[in-house]
Formats: sequence, structure tokens, C-alpha cells
Amino acid sequence: MTQDTLNGPFRHRYLSHAALTRQLETWARDHPQLARLESLGTSPEGRELWVLTLGPEPDRQRPAVWVDGNMHGTELAGSSVALAVAEMVLALHLDPELLPGGWPEHQCRELREVLFYICPRLSPDGAEQVLRQGGFVRSAPRRTAGSPDRPRWRAENLEGDGRCRYLRRHDAAGDFVASPDHPGLMLPRRVEDPPPYWRLYPEGVIEHWDGETIPEPDWLADTPDFNRNFPWGWWPEPEQVGAGHYPGDAPETRAVIDFALAHPNLYAWLNLHTFGGVFIRPLVDAPDSRMDPQDLALYRQLAAWGQSLAGYPTVSSYEEFSYQPETPLHGDLIEFAYHQRGCVAQVCELWDLFQRLGLPRPERFIDHYTALDREQLERLAQWDRISNGQRLFGAWRPLTHPQLGEVEIGGLDANLGIWNPPPEILPSICDGLAVYWLQVASMMPRLVIEAVHCTPLAEGVHALDVTVANHGYLPSYGVQAARARPWNSGVEAEATTRGCRLHEPDRARRVLGHLDGWGRGLGDAAQMPWFQRSQGNSHQARVCWVILGEGEVTVRVASPRLGEVHRTIPIPGKSSTPGPN
Ligand SMILES: [Zn+2]
Repeated sequence: MTQDTLNGPFRHRYLSHAALTRQLETWARDHPQLARLESLGTSPEGRELWVLTLGPEPDRQRPAVWVDGNMHGTELAGSSVALAVAEMVLALHLDPELLPGGWPEHQCRELREVLFYICPRLSPDGAEQVLRQGGFVRSAPRRTAGSPDRPRWRAENLEGDGRCRYLRRHDAAGDFVASPDHPGLMLPRRVEDPPPYWRLYPEGVIEHWDGETIPEPDWLADTPDFNRNFPWGWWPEPEQVGAGHYPGDAPETRAVIDFALAHPNLYAWLNLHTFGGVFIRPLVDAPDSRMDPQDLALYRQLAAWGQSLAGYPTVSSYEEFSYQPETPLHGDLIEFAYHQRGCVAQVCELWDLFQRLGLPRPERFIDHYTALDREQLERLAQWDRISNGQRLFGAWRPLTHPQLGEVEIGGLDANLGIWNPPPEILPSICDGLAVYWLQVASMMPRLVIEAVHCTPLAEGVHALDVTVANHGYLPSYGVQAARARPWNSGVEAEATTRGCRLHEPDRARRVLGHLDGWGRGLGDAAQMPWFQRSQGNSHQARVCWVILGEGEVTVRVASPRLGEVHRTIPIPGKSSTPGPN
């Protein structure tokens, strides 16, 4: 490591694209044997979509895990956490003593075989605008092509202070009142509240202004949402806001789809968002009763680690994270990664603000986002004053707006404290998530040639028996949801000879199929003492060739997902005494 602790700058502040690029380039330059930097493509504003591959021999196919962050522009903390995972993987290779908590040597050794693909910022254009002027950007600061020219709010920094906050305008029918105790905090108006009343708008201007119609701000309309643009369960607008015109029509999401297709070796996928402090897992479109029980057991294991290592609960997207009950989201990334690419895939909404405010967990986690009452809103403002350096709520000042005339400007800037954790809290979030993801990466399947036996059958004739096995936690097919996909084929073995020859040359290549892993997740009856049992030896497969003559045989065992292992076995001549090899 170039530093003696895990202390990259991304743990303490939110990096610009230039600073993020410098960090990645520094790692690739300082550790060329471990880190390779590539671009998945270029954003419409010309920024690279970086992916850092970590692990020796990056082109040697083997099980891999993925982390992406910041696919929503405002959600900068995802970039920091993705970079923290990269930093911890480098420590795993260079100085495992630095890993928090003390990791067993055998686990570190196996983890060093895993490839990590780190894509810290999927929306560099969105993040750059947020860092430059604040305000909200869903995925990218651009309009969906062909969206109508209706009046809409566009964030613009009217005071030139680099932070987009709010506008408030006096109105006898206003729906907000100012908090008497917390300057800058606006409260939903109650019938008993005395005037003055206010209407709230984002700091900015109205595009396609007709001189009188003030549109309701809609931060999600007419702009791409990368997390609604993936192929699985994709629906068009208006049924799914932000969907785009077809799956992958945003260059950023298309780049991820293409990378995933080119990397069948991916087994686990972490898609980082903010905020909430919760892991979200499939299914997105159906209740848990419709999920494969084996996959559900795997996710129970992840949930246990998520709680103990990162401090966040795990919820099903369908059960607890659909904005309307029984109205699932369409075209999201983790569903693509789970159903189509066979990954243990999940979202993490970083930053447990609700927990910090001491709010009780509602029946459905998503209700946290709409449930704050007046007392709890004031608790937020109090937390901002005591623990967040008053980054959220600012004073109001008069302003003459170019379209609305006399208004006040100020109030909430949600970027540091709501949409993202305060930078002071980032180090502990980075540690928790990076350790968690290393733990998940420890589940990778591992293809081995377990045993080779060469047995004489007759003069100049040998039987070559090869046992291959999966020594890892996950099965070779990843998750059951994608087991039947044609590309998700199992293991094959092939023998090539030198000197000697095969008795049946057209059977040089054999299909061995999938190999189970030893892991069964949590909550499987087979683990309980009343019916404790193993899955037989379904982690192994055996293949036998009959060899004629003296020479050597190279056995290659491979699958598109597990990569390849091979061994060369000498086949003895007539005079030697053959035996186990
Ligand atoms: Zn998000």
C-alpha cells in the first residue's frame, strides 16, 4: 500500500470526477500486478465510466464480484464506498493485517483468487452537476429524448453560492409553514396553523414558462433513471417513470449490460445507492413465496452478515420497497443481475438516517420515506444542528426571481445529511460495507481437480480417472433463478494426448454439468440436528478415459463461469509400474 492505513480521500469527502479518476489511476499505476483500469464507455458529456479490475492475472477467467455506485447522480456516497471496497481488496493482497477485525489466513487466501470489478461512478455527469451546484439529479442531467416541452423546473444556482436550495413564496393558500424553532425547516401546514403560509419550489427556473403556470416540481419526470433501464421486466413510460425508450438506451446502462454479458464469471453484484440504511434484495416483482427456497436461504445468510457487519437490515424489494404496495418497479439493475446473469444481487441504500433519528421501523421499510411527523421533522433539524454542522437547513433571504418576482431563497440543501451521509460518518460506513462485501466474495465457487488416478488395465492400456469438484460455497450455476439460462452451462472436461492416444478419440470432451457448493444459506432444515445431512457428493463429478500407449495426457476442466483448471498426467510405458498419480 502507498499508505499505511485504509485512509483514501474518498473516505472523507465526495470526489469530483477528476479526483476519482486520479485515485483509480494511482492504484493502477502503483499496483500494476493487481489493478487494471479500463473504461466501460463514455458518458454523453464525455466522462469515462471507469471499472477497476482487482486481482492478479485479470484475464484469467475465474469467479468474480461486482460493485457499482452512484448510478443516481445525487447519491455520491456510493462512489466512496465502492472505492473503499477497492482499497480493502488491495489491502487483502498487499497487507492483510490492515483488514478490520482480523481475517483467517485461509479465507484471505481464497479471497485473493477472486476478481473484483469496481465501477465507482455510473453517473459521472449527474454526480458532477450535484458536486458543482447541488440540487437533485436522478441519474443524469439530461432530458429523455422526445419528452414534451411542458413547463418544468430546472435546478439553477440563482445566488451563485454553489448550492441549490429552495424557493419559498408567500401564498394565502400555501401548504407549508415555517418551523418556529428551527430556521430553514418548513413543516406541512395543519388546519390550526396561523399564517404566514408558503409554497415551496426548488431553487431554479421554469423551462417553457407560459407566464402564469407554475408546475409542481417533479424530480423524476422527463429524465432517465438508469435503474429503470435494464432489460428484466422493463416497462415503458408512463407505466414506469424514467424507463427510457428501450432497455439499455442510456449509454451508461448499455455499458453495464454489455460488461455483464461479457463476464459470465460474475457471481455477486452490489448496487450502491443512498439513503435509508437497508439492503434490498429480489424479488422485485413477486412475494417471497414465489422465490426459489434455495436462493431465499442464500439471501438469509447475506442478511445476517449485512446486519452484523454493516448494521443494516435486508428487505425484499417487492415486500417492503415498492413505492405502492403490489406495484413493483420495472427494469432495475439487481433483477437483471439476479435473473439474467445468475448473481447473488442486491442494492444497498447507504446511510441509516432513520436509525440515527431513533425512528421506529415501520411495517414496510419504504414507509420510512413518507412517515415523518412534525416532531420527527424537528428531530431531523435538531440532529442537523448538533451532529451535521447545519448543512441541511439554512436561513431564508429575499430574492427577486426572474419569473416569480419576490420570493425567499434558502431552506433545505439535502445533499449532505439526507441524500448522503455527513462526510464525518463516511469512514465507518466504508469499513462496514467493504468488510461485508469481502465476506460475500468469500462465497465464490472454486473449481479444482481433486484427484487423478492412472490404473493399468492391460499391457499398454490405462484408465485415467479424474475427479473434479467445487470447493466453494456457491454452486457453479450461482443462483437457481438463472440456472436454466442457456449460457449458464456447467463444467466440461477435455483430454488431449501427447505420445499416447485415446481409446475413444471422439469422447475426448465430456459434459460434467453443474457442481453444487457446500453452502446452503441459512434456515435450511438440513442444518438442524433432527435431520442434519449433506448434499451427498453433488459437489463432485468424475470422468474416465482409456489411454493407449505411453505419453502424457493434459486434462482441461472448464466452465464459462468458473474458468479453467488443468493438469498434465504422465502415462507410463510398459516397463514402469503404474499406480495412483
Ligand atoms: Zn438510488
